[in-house]
Amino acid sequence: MELYNLKHPSQVVSFTEALTLGLGKDRGLFFPSEIPVLEDMDALLALPFVERSQKVLGAWLASEIGQDAVDSLVEKAFNFDVKLVKADDSKYCLELFHGPTLAFKDFGARFMAQCLNELAGDKKINILTATSGDTGAAVADAFFGLDNIQVVVLYPKGKISILQEKMFTTLGGNIHTVSVESDFDACQALVKHAFEDSDVRDGLHLNSANSINISRLLAQTCYYFEAVAQFKRQHNQDPVIAVPSGNFGNLTAGLFAKAMGLPIAGFVAATNSNDTVPRYLEQGDWLPQATVATMSNAMDVAEPSNWPRVEAIVEKMGWSLSDIKGVALSEEDTSDSLKALICQGYLSEPHAAIAAKALELTLSTEEKGIFLGTAHPAKFKDVVDKELDIELALPIELAAVENKDILSVTLAANFNQLKSYLFNVL
Ligand SMILES: *Cc1c(COP(=O)(O)O)cnc(C)c1O
Repeated sequence: MELYNLKHPSQVVSFTEALTLGLGKDRGLFFPSEIPVLEDMDALLALPFVERSQKVLGAWLASEIGQDAVDSLVEKAFNFDVKLVKADDSKYCLELFHGPTLAFKDFGARFMAQCLNELAGDKKINILTATSGDTGAAVADAFFGLDNIQVVVLYPKGKISILQEKMFTTLGGNIHTVSVESDFDACQALVKHAFEDSDVRDGLHLNSANSINISRLLAQTCYYFEAVAQFKRQHNQDPVIAVPSGNFGNLTAGLFAKAMGLPIAGFVAATNSNDTVPRYLEQGDWLPQATVATMSNAMDVAEPSNWPRVEAIVEKMGWSLSDIKGVALSEEDTSDSLKALICQGYLSEPHAAIAAKALELTLSTEEKGIFLGTAHPAKFKDVVDKELDIELALPIELAAVENKDILSVTLAANFNQLKSYLFNVL
């Protein structure tokens, strides 16, 4: 597989290089030179999830690492269910939260960890990543205990739920966690700064496990195939898919899947009041504003780093950005949507609820759609309990960490402090 740097197209790398580098020169994102198109979609959709995913990822990677390696990576990474659950007659939720850390980030993080473990040889690897909530847990769980890999996770202090925080700050070992006295965009900026700093880059050989890493996005294309496969067993039409979006990795993966030939009627990019993309789609100006804290905190991102990839796919395929519908919802809309869903008998959480509402607002009467369930409701227990006036039971994954001690250190959003911390622990 060949990829190029969107900022410096002359920088061309293999998948293994893109995997280990994370970002290219000048923080440019790697983008595939070719998007493979899959033949015989009906037969592909008829396959079970793991087997189909091996073919989907094989189309990208087999030429470089061999189909056998792809098969074993997929089998190890995707060891949990994907369920399509009916919310009402026109809307289904694709539940992506049945993995070990109860969020869709398990797909990307587990596949990336398996890839690094297999493909990076004996090289010692240092991962620096920022999380708006769920990446931290997924990455920490996926990499915990891997011998050659040290992980540092930055997260915005006080801006993620306590259970989210406990899922990754209580592990210790090779997982180092830092709460930063600021918001997610500041954490992301610190990570970017570290990648630009020559002392850090050359001295520590950093990699990032954020959704800027192409391995994560390729892995995520697989559940779009599963969504369409399950949907088409019940309906003789193509679904619209609404994606609750923060950094826009998830939507990027969906667009890759469509570009590979997967029949998807259209996409809805759903955000909370951090609405840089919906405003851009409507008005044509890219004007990020200060990040606002919302109850869908994993989407509290004002400067989504995957957006250049969205534009690159659209351009490469000759599509139009106006085919992507942008919808931004307020806290009140989010709350109303959670309540409407429970009235229909579907218990959700704020991120999926935003996508459900955005879908409803954009579907025509003949259309049906899928909204992505990106996290288990119990991961946002405080909000869900309060909004719905219920008392959610904790699944074992969360009950197990509830009483453990948080091991993170706190730093100001200051690069020099972070730098000395990194040289200290790595
Ligand atoms: C990360 C996350 C999102 C946003 O996904 P992106 O790929 O960053 O757009 C949405 N919902 C939940 C629960 C998340 O953890």
